[in-house]
Amino acid sequence: MALEYDLVILGAGTGGYVAAVRASQLGLKTAIVEKGKLGGTCLHEGCIPSKALLRSAEVFDTIKHSGDFGVDVSEYSLNFEKVQTRKETIVDQLYKGVQHLIKKGKIDVYEGYGRIMGPSIFSPRAGTVSVEYDGDQENDMLVPKSVMIATGSRSNTLPGLALDEEQILSSTGALKLKEIPASITIIGGGVIGVEWASMLVDFGAEVTVLEYLDRLLPGEDRDISKEMQRAMKKKGVKVITGAEVKGDQTDIQDNQVTVHYVHKGEEKSIISEKVLVSVGRKANTEDIGLNNTEILTNNGFIEVNDHFQTAEDHIYAIGDVIGGLQLAHVASHEGIHAVEHMAELDPDPIDDNLVPKCTYSNPEVASVGLTEEAAKEQGYDVISAKFSFKAIGKALVFGDSNGFVKFVTDKGSQDLLGVHMIGPHVTELISEAALAKVLDATHWEVASTIHPHPTLSEIMGEAALAVDGNEIHGG
Ligand code: FAD
Repeated sequence: MALEYDLVILGAGTGGYVAAVRASQLGLKTAIVEKGKLGGTCLHEGCIPSKALLRSAEVFDTIKHSGDFGVDVSEYSLNFEKVQTRKETIVDQLYKGVQHLIKKGKIDVYEGYGRIMGPSIFSPRAGTVSVEYDGDQENDMLVPKSVMIATGSRSNTLPGLALDEEQILSSTGALKLKEIPASITIIGGGVIGVEWASMLVDFGAEVTVLEYLDRLLPGEDRDISKEMQRAMKKKGVKVITGAEVKGDQTDIQDNQVTVHYVHKGEEKSIISEKVLVSVGRKANTEDIGLNNTEILTNNGFIEVNDHFQTAEDHIYAIGDVIGGLQLAHVASHEGIHAVEHMAELDPDPIDDNLVPKCTYSNPEVASVGLTEEAAKEQGYDVISAKFSFKAIGKALVFGDSNGFVKFVTDKGSQDLLGVHMIGPHVTELISEAALAKVLDATHWEVASTIHPHPTLSEIMGEAALAVDGNEIHGG
């Protein structure tokens, strides 16, 4: 039997389920097809569980240094089983919340594998969605007016390097660790690699990061990468940049993994108990029926226009599956935009320059807009200024005054081009900069915003003043 809908969404990750909720608000009869769990990568294998572990690592590290606060803790130890249980409790609680939202929105959920079919007796256009179930249950056929592909992404690896999830882990396997390894080599120093390096070293592991490029967090401003490298070194992480890992030469013997790499023209190797491979994500597009459509892909990622329509204009694609900024808040905004476009609401386009990006390591990193390098490449006459957390009272009270906020501005128009931060709680501070960017604010408008004292947010005002050399607590 064919089941008719206004919208069928393939995949209920952050992109898909948020789009479904918005579609239901707009009165669209909506179904989602999910082969795993509502909430997808972010809730079950990404943002939330990793941040729960990072928080435990931060508490453990704080206790290690509790003497600095005049608090003597004579005995403490890590109960990693409990750390994992806490993580799972948080995920379960949020999972229940997502289930509730879907039920409240009267959104039909098909718990099976979705595939797009070509034109059929049910529909003259590509887009009928078949749902395949485990076991003997017969397939369902969903006939929607519009389809949204939100099937997300999965961990990539290097050629010849198989992820066994025992000793050679993806981030998904790492989340299930039963104990902290004595030593780990992390291949890839991007956001996920840096978060895991920070967490595992705080938990007591010996951590080495091998990064192919010349710096950690290559997507961030160079000054941020430099500061992160310094911070990681101080924490005890060994960082080797410019390291070309030979994935196919990796071998496991006596429960130890040897990773071979080339550094400055020399062949080198490193032995550790585990390896974490964090070298990017690939799109889940292989077996979802794209061959039944005219949809185009680039390197596996689905090509879309500014409204997230594919080459079949009634089939939209959003989130990690289209590449670009692979972030949960990007996926959900794209999902909302696509649904509003279907409903002919004329939503505002999404500008990558307005998207805040965060790394939840210790120290945290957050940014929005252009890096200094990118701004110069684009021909801006750049003025940049940094202000250090060392002069921010609340950071000293907090016991963490490393890091800075950097403003990148255009000399001519005074436009705020980018804001880049590293230090305590900057992932909470970045939203002010994101709002400033949305409102097209100048740095002096940020400077004239009154920031309460004593707060970490005062650094925003000071960094903004520093653009004109007028910072109050500088020097
Ligand atoms: P996904 O969340 O991947 O959801 C896709 C869903 O589609 C899945 O549930 C999958 O089961 C389902 N699916 C796939 N194929 C089919 C099919 N054929 N039929 C039915 N269902 C299907 N982002 C942040 O913004 N902040 C963070 O702190 C952060 N931390 C991260 C940490 C880690 C370790 C990782 C791996 C990622 C992290 N991300 C973070 C990225 C974030 O998780 C993704 O950007 C986000 O989940 C993308 O959402 P999505 O809806 O596009 O895809």
